[in-house]
Amino acid sequence: MVSKVIVPNRGEIAVRIARACREAGIASALAFSEADDTRYVRRFFDETVSLGSGDARATYLDVSRVIDAARSVGADALHPGYGFLSERAELAAACEDAGITFIGPKASSIAAMGSKAESRHLMQRLGVPVVPGYDGDDQALPTLTAEALRIGFPLLVKASAGGGGKGMKVVRSADELQAAIESAQREAMKAFGDDRLLLERYIEEPRHVEFQIFGDGRGNIVHLFERDCSIQRRHQKVVEESPAPRYSDDLRQRMAKAAIAAAQGVEYRSAGTVEFIVTPDNEFYFLEMNTRLQVEHPVTEQTLDVDLVRAQLAVAAGGELPWSQNDLRQRGHAIEVRIYAEDPDDRFLPQTGTIARYVEPSGPGVRVDAGVTERSEVGVKFDPMLAKLICSAPTRDAAIDRMDRALRDYIILGTKTNVAWLRRVVTHPAFRDGLVSTRFLTDHAESLERTISPLAPLVASALASAAPRANAATNADAAPGVPSVWDVLGGWKT
Ligand code: ADP
Repeated sequence: MVSKVIVPNRGEIAVRIARACREAGIASALAFSEADDTRYVRRFFDETVSLGSGDARATYLDVSRVIDAARSVGADALHPGYGFLSERAELAAACEDAGITFIGPKASSIAAMGSKAESRHLMQRLGVPVVPGYDGDDQALPTLTAEALRIGFPLLVKASAGGGGKGMKVVRSADELQAAIESAQREAMKAFGDDRLLLERYIEEPRHVEFQIFGDGRGNIVHLFERDCSIQRRHQKVVEESPAPRYSDDLRQRMAKAAIAAAQGVEYRSAGTVEFIVTPDNEFYFLEMNTRLQVEHPVTEQTLDVDLVRAQLAVAAGGELPWSQNDLRQRGHAIEVRIYAEDPDDRFLPQTGTIARYVEPSGPGVRVDAGVTERSEVGVKFDPMLAKLICSAPTRDAAIDRMDRALRDYIILGTKTNVAWLRRVVTHPAFRDGLVSTRFLTDHAESLERTISPLAPLVASALASAAPRANAATNADAAPGVPSVWDVLGGWKT
């Protein structure tokens, strides 16, 4: 039984979890850093508890502080969200020791999937295909070099403890190898305190397709179909959708079977994701398993009409899986984009500021999961993701049309955002045709750039003086390729 859930997290995912708690009649407590602007997020919680005023390391990432906070509010369960401590077996174990229900998998499943090398070993034992490569314990430079030459080029050097694309290097020839290994080791040590590497064949023009799985910890596991997350920038997802375009049912069923096998191998409990990389010839390989809720879980929720967080709460309280495999049917299409405070015109540098005006899009099939609102401060200490916009419709084409419209309606002033750029991505003819791969943003970089009409700056400055009165302004381009005044003004503040 769960009566009060503590959430040591921030932004939209904290809001998402609090909403589910309220619907389930469970009390919620937000554990927050005072360095973060939590004025919006805390509205959704029954109570709050400070983790101190430090940055992420000193607050959201400090296991003993988090456990103390849970005890101080009398929480009997903890939902870690994503990021921060969500994939640390140490937190799951500390919760168990403190008699707090960890809303997620068993510590042993997290540990088994925490290292990319170890999870590859497990997958090989289970008969799930992995990318050809080297995942051995011997990390001496001569061994890594010999293995790299055996695998051939191009090659991907990866941090075994990695995440978020850190410590990952593409090596195109033998003479780049040593420098790439050393720099990946340095980066991995700095980011994860662990410099073990693995080597994989670098697959050219792949797609990233992942399966949502869900287990009750007693061997019952279902899959909730796939998400295509191929639109990535620097190995980080930007646009996600479900179903994956242009794939046969047969391919998707084979991947679903492999995903279930992977989850069964660790007696998985709660929500998890099995990630695959798919070659242009439709061969698929296991990449890794994420033992937590993913940022992109809403596209699954929208196409299956499920609530993954409520299901996590139910299973954590000892309940059964709310669905059998046969209950789960994909309907229509859903697309998610991640809205960031960043400047697409200047190397996507994170932006800071106070959100001066904020109006979310709405209407049928439009869902916004936001962590900010008007007057929220966007600082430098935490991730600059502001919100996620999810659009669903009966067909992929209609979902794209809806996303185009919703992005046009989205108003965020006071800090630059990627809203107008995202609109160029989703309305790109290649995206419309479902021709997605992890190279999409690189291949189409030029056609995704903002085109400034010679008149735009003049129009912008004329409107700037009138803007305080302008209510119907939008963030998005007036027409694809033509910048709106807000796009041009960027960080201009009211
Ligand atoms: P992380 O845990 O850092 O996110 P992943 O192993 O999940 O790392 O990979 C992240 C992304 O990097 C993938 O979605 C894919 O775009 C790319 N990638 C990973 N492995 C390969 C590979 N062997 N070949 C080509 N691209 C890869």
